[in-house]
Amino acid sequence: MRTVDVAPINLDRLDHLIGPERWAQVQRGVQAARAGLDGRVFWHVSSTATGGGVAEMLQILLAYVRGTGIDARWLVLDCPGPFFSITKRLHNALHGVPGDGGPLGEQERSRYEAALAPNAEDLRSRLGPGDVVQLHDPQTAGLIPHLADRGVSVLWRSHIGCDKTNEHTARGWAFLEPYLREAQAVVVSRPVYAPPSVPRERVVVIAPSIDPFAAKNAPIPNGDVQRTLVRAGVVEGMDDALEVRFPRRDGSTGTVRRHTGAMVAGGPVPADTPYVLQVSRWDRLKDMPGVMRAFIGNADARAAAHLVLAGPAVEGVSDDPEGVEVLQECVQLWEELDPAGRARVHLAALPMDDVDENAHIVNALQRAAAIVVQKSLQEGFGLTVTEAMWKSRPMIASAVGGIQDQIEDGVSGLLLADPSNLAGAGQLMARLLTDDALAAQLGARARERVYQQFLPDRHLLQYERLLAAMPLAPRPPGGTTT
Ligand code: UDP
Repeated sequence: MRTVDVAPINLDRLDHLIGPERWAQVQRGVQAARAGLDGRVFWHVSSTATGGGVAEMLQILLAYVRGTGIDARWLVLDCPGPFFSITKRLHNALHGVPGDGGPLGEQERSRYEAALAPNAEDLRSRLGPGDVVQLHDPQTAGLIPHLADRGVSVLWRSHIGCDKTNEHTARGWAFLEPYLREAQAVVVSRPVYAPPSVPRERVVVIAPSIDPFAAKNAPIPNGDVQRTLVRAGVVEGMDDALEVRFPRRDGSTGTVRRHTGAMVAGGPVPADTPYVLQVSRWDRLKDMPGVMRAFIGNADARAAAHLVLAGPAVEGVSDDPEGVEVLQECVQLWEELDPAGRARVHLAALPMDDVDENAHIVNALQRAAAIVVQKSLQEGFGLTVTEAMWKSRPMIASAVGGIQDQIEDGVSGLLLADPSNLAGAGQLMARLLTDDALAAQLGARARERVYQQFLPDRHLLQYERLLAAMPLAPRPPGGTTT
């Protein structure tokens, strides 16, 4: 397994933002957590350090936890490609869809377990008595039984789920069920996402959060938004060569480089053109092609807006085997548009070789968007939704999964009741593109909603309560962990 270095961030920077009452609560929580953990290491294991919401969130949360003096550490699985084809199948199944339609039988189970075995060995060798281990998502669930005799506390957090159970969710949970028995607690983003086999008293609901100071969300001076987009090759314009800086997660400052290869289709967006944006991994459940279809013929006729579909450069996300195919499908769909359509739709695959720069580019894209869309077919909890809401962007998103907890329909965004209703999605886009007052009002309420519900202080306090409620595995008296 690979260790992901996370530089500590001092929680103090939240102080002014959240006000004295919330700040006092956080301080009390931190004290209690430190006393409760009493020197135990809080380990996290996930399948990737970059790309996707889990990596995004762990990076921030662990940085804050480390900033409190708690020893939080992050390990990433080392598994071969075929393992991720099986886990992507599991991911799709838990979202209630067939995915590639392949089996999740005994053969897949053997391969899954064989790929995890060396990781389990590695993990066991690192743990000290009493440590707390949180494993993230289906990729890591198979590690749980390996930890049972290690004298540690084991949590499993699932970041995905489906509002309704069906044969696919049943198949996914049946695969995972044997591993989950020995987890002390299971953390999910919504109550309905709880694994059916896990008793309710072991399930804890904690919704994700975003960091307002990270490169993804930090304020960007006005001129730098445009400058960033021009330099990234996403928007046309003269590059004035002034330096554009962004905060790095290690506390240093980065500088935006010049990119030429980000646009996969449609070239850069013409200067001063309003655009509708969806940012996502190239995952079928995000329905990037559906956003394109909804825009063309519905939203494009009503306003002079363009559409930007942006995701990671596909070689940059190692645990997502679907990425290349989905991007290719989008390119093909774009090629089938008429010339007017092709001129208004832009596909961007953003460089991932520098994750902080990538985050800054996404930040600029979200800030400059007229409307942000998240037309997912399923969504555990859409960080992209919270990110855009924090930037006061008017949002249109599917009424699925965690998005229903994030957006209050008509108040802090507009919900699309049926995500397969492409004409309906296009009409909502047209409505917001032509009603500036409504767009501004939704954007302002969106930011307020994130301020109240989805910042790290709420998230950290929920963890403190979870750990306080759990009987932690004992530490040897006076012992230290490795
Ligand atoms: N993201 C990114 N660059 C990209 C595409 C996505 O940084 O090119 C980020 C996005 O901003 C968000 C995360 O990846 O922070 C996606 O999280 P979300 O919960 O929306 O979806 P997931 O990928 O976890 O299904």
